Amino acid sequence: MLNKKTIKELPKIELHCHLDGSIRIETLEKLAAKEGLSKKSLSKVMAPKKCLNLKEYLESFEVILPLLQSEENLSIAAFDLIEQAGNENVCYIEIRFAPLFHQQKGLSIEQIIQAVVQGIRKAQEKFDVQANLIVSAMRHHTDQQNAELIDSLKKSQNEAIAGFDFAGDEQQVGNDKIKRTTALAIDAGLGLTLHSGECGCAQNVVEAIHLGATRIGHGVAIREDIDAMKLCSEKNILLELCPTSNLQTNAISDWCAYPLRLFMTQNIACCINTDNRTVSQTTLTNEYHLLAEHCQLTVSEMKQLNVNAVNGSFATAPVKAALMKKINQAYPSN
Ligand SMILES: [Zn+2]
Repeated sequence: MLNKKTIKELPKIELHCHLDGSIRIETLEKLAAKEGLSKKSLSKVMAPKKCLNLKEYLESFEVILPLLQSEENLSIAAFDLIEQAGNENVCYIEIRFAPLFHQQKGLSIEQIIQAVVQGIRKAQEKFDVQANLIVSAMRHHTDQQNAELIDSLKKSQNEAIAGFDFAGDEQQVGNDKIKRTTALAIDAGLGLTLHSGECGCAQNVVEAIHLGATRIGHGVAIREDIDAMKLCSEKNILLELCPTSNLQTNAISDWCAYPLRLFMTQNIACCINTDNRTVSQTTLTNEYHLLAEHCQLTVSEMKQLNVNAVNGSFATAPVKAALMKKINQAYPSN
């Protein structure tokens, strides 16, 4: 069986990781002290192992976001995440965050993005991790707010921004309601991934693909819909699976029902991710280890999942080629 040490040492790619949910608790404690807040205020950061629903899971973020309202703190957060990635041989990571959540003290979108990029660049002096950003819009924000967000991204022309995403409650605000913004994002040349089929139904995934998403955050709801699975396979859609998070939010009831093997037999491209390292108390190494334990994942399957991630990533062609080379060199050839 794949052991933890091997998994940790092998190069890995992560495409679905939220900045705010992935800052180490020690770092959050330092930020809290800096902002004059008690450690106790962080007691809800780690979500229960079984949440009632996605909404309960998302409550963890309410205590984190007040700490991420200055450029300095955003840089510290980004540095912290790259350090974690480097420590477990994640060689490429796409970090996502919602800039509109970091404006409580008046920062501009440009300042927020610059601060995150600065933290990444500083960490890259020490850690061999390549990174790009995915800007998340929130489903409960208005079309107007999200149009302004895309406008700011266009103006900033920051080359680290590679993709666009929608996060939030997909049951309240379905994919039909985000059409205008996703069209603007595609127009702006951004790769599109959408959180869909996490707690909603398979139809949300189908709609997301029709909106132009080439990747789906989670997407596990399609496991009971043969047509939706066929569509994903035909269109070569990449499902960004986050096992621990999916079990926590009850998107999947237990490991026996985890659909990774089903998706593989249906020829659907998947990759493995943490979603939120701190809120879900996990690492990418841990996610693969859980899959080895519960789904008998082999090393060649782990390689394939990482190859899928490179292919579906929003990195440039030269970066993808370099990552592919790294994976081919590091993994056993069969
Ligand atoms: Zn997510």
